Amino acid sequence: MACPKCGNYSITRDTTKTHQCPYCGYVMRIEEVTIIARAKNGKEAREIILKLKTPKELRRP
Ligand SMILES: [Zn+2]
Repeated sequence: MACPKCGNYSITRDTTKTHQCPYCGYVMRIEEVTIIARAKNGKEAREIILKLKTPKELRRP
């Protein structure tokens, strides 16, 4: 999912209701954020994140 505050991508599980962004610390509710992709397992999720990851210099302010 993408953090609505800083725009970075992070992984969470469908079973959780809230998720704290590891980058800016913002606690988001799962229902308010954009789900970029769904992965069957942690390995697949990490691969998706690696593909999506935005370089620091391209990050939105
Ligand atoms: Zn964030």
